[in-house]
Amino acid sequence: MLNNWAVVPTCLPLVRRRCHACASERFRANGKFRVNANHKLLDAWLLVLCTACGDTAKLTVLERMNVRSVRPELLDRMHDNDPGLAAEVLQDPVMRRRNRIALDWDDAWRLDTGGSDHLGREVIDVAVRFAAQIPVRPVRVIAEGCGLSRAEVERLIADGKLVSPVRLGGKLSGDFTFMLKR
Ligand SMILES: [Zn+2]
Repeated sequence: MLNNWAVVPTCLPLVRRRCHACASERFRANGKFRVNANHKLLDAWLLVLCTACGDTAKLTVLERMNVRSVRPELLDRMHDNDPGLAAEVLQDPVMRRRNRIALDWDDAWRLDTGGSDHLGREVIDVAVRFAAQIPVRPVRVIAEGCGLSRAEVERLIADGKLVSPVRLGGKLSGDFTFMLKR
């Protein structure tokens, strides 16, 4: 029987960026946007606050776009400071490159295993689904879900008792499956 686990965001990830006011490198989005229309051109930013000193920085979302080419519902969501939109914007790799930022997902996700009933079985088959592109180490996910230490998980992999079509040693941000035989 296949068990489904899910890696789920619990809050917005932190934004890694150097603060110009202090030495901190972590900012937090509070879901607020700023939109500025100048004649027919429109700029929009996602506001982020330094976690140490509270200084505000702006991340470019739209840059000198023709107002007519921007979807009205997107503008509405920015004017409403839609927190879901902040999550979507941060997930966009083009936006991250443009603003030279990376995301820090530590403590911003949890693992749902649907209970521990399946863990006692001799063979467990698990599909791990990602609700957002959260870079995590499969070893960490498996350790947490199975209630094992990472060293124990690594030993199971080395012994061939834990197998997967993906490389379990690196980082992933998408769905994967694994099978554990004890
Ligand atoms: Zn700061």
